[in-house]
Amino acid sequence: MAKIPYIESEECLACGSCADVCPDVFQMNETLGFAEVINPQGASEDEIQEAIDMCPAQCIHWKEE
Ligand code: SF4
Repeated sequence: MAKIPYIESEECLACGSCADVCPDVFQMNETLGFAEVINPQGASEDEIQEAIDMCPAQCIHWKEE
């Protein structure tokens, strides 16, 4: 079972940090005003964990696919 990241979008501050750390996984949605997961397999688990740890809103979490 794979772990994939998801964003609690109502908590997102749209700071852009996750998209900076893992641009192939997270992308800012300028229209909606929050970040979204564009490809959960776009980076290694360690890189995604780094983005999770850096999120100021702590709104990125893992879920089992
Ligand atoms: S790091 Fe967190 S608060 Fe910042 S854009 Fe990504 S999900 Fe939103």
